[in-house]
Amino acid sequence: MTVLLLILAGFVPMTGNPPCLDHGSAPEPEDYASGIPVITYHQITVHESAYSATPAKLRGDLQKLYDAGFFLILPTDIENGLSRIPFDRRPVMITFDDGWEDNFRYIDLPGDSQVIDPDCAIAIVNTFIEEHPDFGSGVVFFISWDKVPFGECTEEKLNAVLDMGHYIGNHSADHLAFTKIPPSRYWEQVIPALNSFHRRLGLRTSEINVVAYPGGQIPRGVNAENVLASMEYRGRPAVTQGYLVDGAVGSFKNFYQGNKYRISRLDMALYSVPRLLNWSNIMVESNARPSLHDDLPWRPVNSE
Ligand SMILES: [Zn+2]
Repeated sequence: MTVLLLILAGFVPMTGNPPCLDHGSAPEPEDYASGIPVITYHQITVHESAYSATPAKLRGDLQKLYDAGFFLILPTDIENGLSRIPFDRRPVMITFDDGWEDNFRYIDLPGDSQVIDPDCAIAIVNTFIEEHPDFGSGVVFFISWDKVPFGECTEEKLNAVLDMGHYIGNHSADHLAFTKIPPSRYWEQVIPALNSFHRRLGLRTSEINVVAYPGGQIPRGVNAENVLASMEYRGRPAVTQGYLVDGAVGSFKNFYQGNKYRISRLDMALYSVPRLLNWSNIMVESNARPSLHDDLPWRPVNSE
């Protein structure tokens, strides 16, 4: 009775020392697999080509990634040390390059109304996310301005992509390969593209700060990374991350050691999820922390 009154009064008698929170020292990143698969698609269509995937393949890939314990991340999650990822999942980023109409298409219904084509990329992703809320909630659309992004209704669709919780990246003004122009001319591809985004998105353009290189590469040994890092747009860095297509799974450790402009990606027109799972450096499935207080086993010590 006395104890109850004391508790009601807000006073709890101490019976010995409280248990120590013993998290141990943060693990070294090289002790753990730290690869983050970033996968990319181009066109999503039933018409087979070297760069396309069918709607059925995309649906199948999403299911296989989900079943293998993956969780969708966005470029912001990499900057934030992947802190949003549930303790029993592992990260994957899904990207779509170029802004094809089959990535986001409306179809007309009788009587002047429109719906999103259920077989376009964004509808397939949204449906899967709705049915699997523990898969995470966003993918990246890298848009280039050498054609009309998403075919038509560009302004409405770009805003809708952001409204739906997805992410927009810069895929250049003219889709010129960065290996074919000197770094002193990169700005001609990056800045006019941002101006085009700004005309449709206004202030929301501040969220567009990652680039996928047209052609999938940037040259080595020509200061390309420093040129990209120093580029500004309306008082903020124009490019904080750069994405290749090099058929590799990049290491989180490399990113935190400063390699933000050579993030690896796999082209899923050439790749399968079972093959992806054979990569030796990707995190093991459901490598859960013993408790929510513990560090993620693969989070580097310097991930501020
Ligand atoms: Zn492209």
